[in-house]
Amino acid sequence: MGEVNKYKIATIGSHSALQILKGAKDEGFGTIVICTPKTAKVYQEFGVADQIINIDSYDNYETIEPELIKQNAIVIPHGSFVAYLGNDRCENLKAHYYGNKSVLRWEANRDLERQWLTKASLKLPKIFNSPKEIDCSVIVKFHGARGGKGYFIANSENDFNEKIKNYTKEEREDHVIQEYIIGVPIYIHYFYSPITNKVEIMGFDKRYESNVDSLGRISARDQIALKKVDPSYVIVGNIPIVLRESFLPQVLQMGEDVIKASKQVIPPHGLFGPFCLECILTPEKEFFVFEISARIVAGTNPYIEGSPYTALKYDKPMSTGRRIALDIKQAIETEQIEKVLQ
Ligand code: ATP
Repeated sequence: MGEVNKYKIATIGSHSALQILKGAKDEGFGTIVICTPKTAKVYQEFGVADQIINIDSYDNYETIEPELIKQNAIVIPHGSFVAYLGNDRCENLKAHYYGNKSVLRWEANRDLERQWLTKASLKLPKIFNSPKEIDCSVIVKFHGARGGKGYFIANSENDFNEKIKNYTKEEREDHVIQEYIIGVPIYIHYFYSPITNKVEIMGFDKRYESNVDSLGRISARDQIALKKVDPSYVIVGNIPIVLRESFLPQVLQMGEDVIKASKQVIPPHGLFGPFCLECILTPEKEFFVFEISARIVAGTNPYIEGSPYTALKYDKPMSTGRRIALDIKQAIETEQIEKVLQ
């Protein structure tokens, strides 16, 4: 076991915490979950946490840091972790942190993100700097953790001007107008280990979003009659996908290119650990990447027992959560822990 028992794995109770904690236990780590009174019950129920640290609100997260440090805990960030704390607070955390904190800034800023993905030679949807330039269907996205609520589709400058009227002053000033790509959404889950130096395909999912995924359940005639039904993209769950095998070479190349570019834009280490390319795959078989998530995504949750791809590679059920713990374990055992911690 090396020195695995000298460390614990900790995370906030939300998002993909069940998977992260289960994976850590499977690799022999003690586990800690940080919960609010509302969430603790779930983590008691599933028994994946050896210890629950209760906190009134994530506004006070820093107050429990001394306890995490005392227990030599390694904190695993996930989507909600970063959303609750915000980038600045994440960057200033003192406990061990799995991942490269410098990536947070690149991922959060749309211009930097675009610079990085362009360097990786990925295809990106066009961005319109002004509604005057709109010459195709566009999706208008707002900043902040709105989870796709209120995004709208516009088909011309006039249509945009008409629809944007319903938004607040702040929203009217802070949004992005992106080319709407016609195709199917595919979220690609990767893992890059700085210990093995390899990019792995962990799996794929698509999101189940309300109400856009149910609009087709009523006829177009009824949708028009309802008038008020605008699509929204509020995520409620994730659906696993197995991709046509002939796409895999392209998928692997895209992941490798993202890692290579990350070492150039965020030197020297770049991105490591789990990440996800959020894509639309067109009938012309082109992947348009509209976002990168530089950490574990909730789309990996259907694969707590491993995905078809990890089943091919590992002789044990390998979730992304467990892969993180394995990376840490291998780093400990080969005395390279500094390569995965901050
Ligand atoms: P996240 O939670 O990943 O930060 P979000 O939920 O705020 O993001 P997005 O994931 O950017 O929002 O988009 C919401 C939905 O819109 C998704 O279903 C996605 O497939 C779709 N979408 C986003 N960008 C495009 C695009 N350029 N073309 C077509 N569909 C898009």
